[in-house]
Amino acid sequence: MVSVDKEKCIGCGLCAQICGEVFEMGENNKAKIKEQKNTPCVKEVIKSCPVNAISE
Ligand code: SF4
Repeated sequence: MVSVDKEKCIGCGLCAQICGEVFEMGENNKAKIKEQKNTPCVKEVIKSCPVNAISE
């Protein structure tokens, strides 16, 4: 299950851009999970998040 650490997230929006099926931007410009899905872009986002806020 993928999750976003809201304490770490800086709201860059990258995850929602790269993997909009799973991530979306929510309150306070923090990323949140839209839908749990096992798609390849999740792995890419985990690697790409600048503050390593996403884990699985
Ligand atoms: S890529 Fe990381 S820092 Fe950027 S919005 Fe997503 S969780 Fe937050």
